[in-house]
Amino acid sequence: TLKLIPIKPKDKFEHIMDKIEEKIRQETFESMSYSQQNKYLPPYYCPRNLENTYKIECKLRKTRNRDSFDENLKDLPILSFDGKASGLTKRNSSDMYLIPRAIYGDPFKRGNNILVMCDTYTHRMEPTRTNHRYQCAATYNKCREHEPWFGVEQEFYLLNPTDSRPAGWPKCGFPRLSHQSYCGLGANKVVGRELVEAHYRCCLHAGIPMWGTNPELVPSQWEYQVGPSVGIDAGDDVWMSRYILNILGEKFGVVISFDPKPVANWVSSGAHINFSTLATRGVNGISAIQRGIKRLAAFHERHIQVYDPRGGLDNKKRLTADTGLTSAIDKFTAGIADRLVSVRIPRMVAEDKCGFLEDRRPASNSDPYRVINALMSTVILNE
Ligand code: ADP
Ligand code: MN
Ligand code: MN
Ligand code: MN
Ligand code: MN
Repeated sequence: TLKLIPIKPKDKFEHIMDKIEEKIRQETFESMSYSQQNKYLPPYYCPRNLENTYKIECKLRKTRNRDSFDENLKDLPILSFDGKASGLTKRNSSDMYLIPRAIYGDPFKRGNNILVMCDTYTHRMEPTRTNHRYQCAATYNKCREHEPWFGVEQEFYLLNPTDSRPAGWPKCGFPRLSHQSYCGLGANKVVGRELVEAHYRCCLHAGIPMWGTNPELVPSQWEYQVGPSVGIDAGDDVWMSRYILNILGEKFGVVISFDPKPVANWVSSGAHINFSTLATRGVNGISAIQRGIKRLAAFHERHIQVYDPRGGLDNKKRLTADTGLTSAIDKFTAGIADRLVSVRIPRMVAEDKCGFLEDRRPASNSDPYRVINALMSTVILNE
């Protein structure tokens, strides 16, 4: 079974507990919405018996730090890192540059601490070969007035660090209940909820717009949704949410797997991207959505190339159509409320005649910068 390793704030904050009447705290807290509660909750795991103590501490710190990490991106230093150790160069003089691009609250250190999203540059100050943010930012700059929004559905598995099998699965064989965990309940169907909820809070603390979360089809498979985020922020937000998830995985003793097919012949993971613009969100936006889908159809092969890190090889294992869960990799399809297509128009969008489309093709390990770059280029710039 999954081993949860909580962090115990007990000793440090015990004194606060003495000062406050337990009952009042609890009632006030329970009457709050989830996002209100988050202001008081520790951004990561809170041991049940100490919950209330810890909440107070967070309140004191967070109000302060929110005010102070907002606007100094330009004041942050450019740092260097070892390009050789990172596999980005074979040169011996291997210093490369990190340029700060986005600031998030640090949910682990909290206080005034921040996490800084950077992109990478060679010694000649050219973007490195894995820096897909650079092109994405350039494309977004051409599209700003169209106000592109993106919402990403990130799926993943939790694996044991020892045997790389999904956490909570039997040592030999497979879970007795399978394909029954989607939005499910119960220890026989769902593994790791504590971690996923901790991740949700951490992301809110960081300043990432979270939409929701749900258990996926099999035990230890999960999804969370980020967004809608505006333009390039979507890529930053998703990468930062993945970073935070990995750190939490370490704390809980499980490996986070974004592999689209971590177990052969079992449910794959994707990263559906929901996309809208000023036009699709406006009156009769459905016609802009249909126009966008026509353009996407014409560029299908080119998009598949950038919808996973291996030029389509990962998605070849995932977009197989035969499982009755996905579309086929070699054929573009679209439909209303249909989840077996490349691009879906959600039922409510069809009813409202405006909103967003959902591109279901990106794999769980896709680089969101590459995917949203492709979507903006094709749908907005028609290139
Ligand atoms: P699904 O029904 O496909 O499972 P989810 O509820 O998991 O959908 O995810 C919905 C996603 O759509 C979220 O990531 C959310 O941010 C995104 N979204 C909602 N409205 C918009 C919009 N107007 N533009 C772009 N993305 C949107
Ligand atoms: Mn060093
Ligand atoms: Mn979803
Ligand atoms: Mn899903
Ligand atoms: Mn979806």
